[in-house]
Order: sequence, then structure tokens, then C-alpha cells
Amino acid sequence: MTIRKILTEPNKILREKSLRVENVNKDIQQLMDDMLETLYAAPGIGLAAIQVGVAKRVIVMDISRSRNDIGRDEKEDKEPKNPMYFVNPEIVWKSEDKFTYEEGCLSVPNQFAEIDRPKQCHVRHLDYNGDPQELKAEGLLATCIQHEIDHLEGILFIDYLSKLKKEMIIKKLSKQTKESVERIVV
Ligand code: ZN
Repeated sequence: MTIRKILTEPNKILREKSLRVENVNKDIQQLMDDMLETLYAAPGIGLAAIQVGVAKRVIVMDISRSRNDIGRDEKEDKEPKNPMYFVNPEIVWKSEDKFTYEEGCLSVPNQFAEIDRPKQCHVRHLDYNGDPQELKAEGLLATCIQHEIDHLEGILFIDYLSKLKKEMIIKKLSKQTKESVERIVV
């Protein structure tokens, strides 16, 4: 397994629409293994393939590593890992009820904002072995899968914010990227 580089906004690749996977073969499983390792190393709770520069409809998640737990090393060691794999995920139903969660994103580092999304959703997808599954998700799990499916369409959570707020965040991130490039040059 290899830790891959996570792309950060602003980056045009993050805005690409990902393509359907025709066949869950060894290459796709290798991609999922790498993505999961990248997710745990970050650390984060969800990652879409486009975030490591691969425009395929593939997502890995592990919400047992939710933000409240990160930093508590002891708990992380004891808590069993619960990886979830989604290939070609499709939301087939979503509730009218909304749920608000303070979202972050590995591609939008250190930025958080409250986002409303349907509280429950049903997702049809293929699993790690290419078998069809349907997940009934609620709360954080529903938020996370909707956030990740947005990535497959080139959508980031900051797109739901006001134009002003979104521009402020992108400006901040552009500055961070510039600074890190300068640091490497020096
Ligand atoms: Zn994200």
C-alpha cells in the first residue's frame, strides 16, 4: 500500500467529473487500498479517488475515525477500524429532513463550515469485491457519503457557501500553496 498525495483547492483536477468503473479488478482494489492508507495517514474519515488525482467513481470511508476521536491515540489504537468502499455510488433516495454538520475536507485543509444536507439517504454501489450493495445511511454517515459523492461530480463543500465566504477560503488556500512552493524554492 502506498500513501498518495492529496490534491488541494484551488486545483482544476478537483473540478473534474469522475468516470464510472467498468470492472472492479485488481487495479481498482489497489487504488482502494492506497486510498484507505492515505485516509488513515491524513487523518480523515472519507476520501474520493479524484482527491488523489484519479477521475474514477471510487470512495473510501471510515467514520469510526470521526473528528472527535482524532488525537486520542489510546482510543484510536483500541477502536477497531471499519473501512467502507464504494464504487459507482448512486443516491437512490434522500430524506426531506435535514442534518447540519460542521464539515471539513482533506482537499480544503484547515477550513470548516456548517453545511445542511438530507439527514438520511440510500446509496446503491459496488463493494470492494465488485458485489452490488445498498446502504441505508443516517446522520454523520449520510453526510459523509453525500460529501464524497459530490467530489465525483467536481463539487466541494465550499460551493454551498456564499460567494464571499467561498472566495475568502480560496484566497487563503492559494496563499498557503504559494508559501509552501516558496519554501521549497528556498
Ligand atoms: Zn472532501
